[in-house]
Amino acid sequence: MTMDDATLDDADAAPDDADAALDGNAIAGLLASVFGTDMTMAVGTCGSCGAVSVVAELAVYRPGLGTVVRCRSCQSVLMVFVSVRGTTCVDLMGLASMS
Ligand SMILES: [Zn+2]
Repeated sequence: MTMDDATLDDADAAPDDADAALDGNAIAGLLASVFGTDMTMAVGTCGSCGAVSVVAELAVYRPGLGTVVRCRSCQSVLMVFVSVRGTTCVDLMGLASMS
């Protein structure tokens, strides 16, 4: 892989950690700004395998262009957050439900 897509957001991460999974707590602030409330204890259901997990325990990747949240059971992408010109675009397509 290349690091061409690295951004200032990666300043505190070593290059080799780019593929390391964080957890949902790492994006608590992002989620709160998008949803207007603390979502870390919200329960999401994977649309692919049906695994149920609180957001705080999901696998979170920040490749630089945005934030990707994956199911820990099947690695399906559950949520994608991309900031474009100050607006955060949210894709929850991979979630069967969230409550
Ligand atoms: Zn899954």
